[in-house]
Amino acid sequence: MARSNTRRMNLLRDEFLAEGRKQSESDDPEVRDLSECWLCKMPIDYVADPHSTDDSHNLDHYFIVRDYPELEEDVGNFRHAHRLCNLNRGTKSPSLGLGTAVADWW
Ligand SMILES: [Zn+2]
Repeated sequence: MARSNTRRMNLLRDEFLAEGRKQSESDDPEVRDLSECWLCKMPIDYVADPHSTDDSHNLDHYFIVRDYPELEEDVGNFRHAHRLCNLNRGTKSPSLGLGTAVADWW
């Protein structure tokens, strides 16, 4: 999948990661929820470097970049995800019941 790798996108990615990391350390469970993987609802390993392990942080796009390239740098389209969940999702739409269908991915 072709993706622009601009300096701006890298900055947005860093900020999004920092935000998620901060949320994951919050005392408020509702804030912590925001930092969890939006695909499987499990906590993300924010200690690991992004993209370094299956549980590490990945910036996912709610509307996939292939179909909505204009939303690639739209922070409202960003979602926190596990690297592995993002990989498994591929280009599938979230409306297909992902999260309950984990077993079907394998
Ligand atoms: Zn996940």
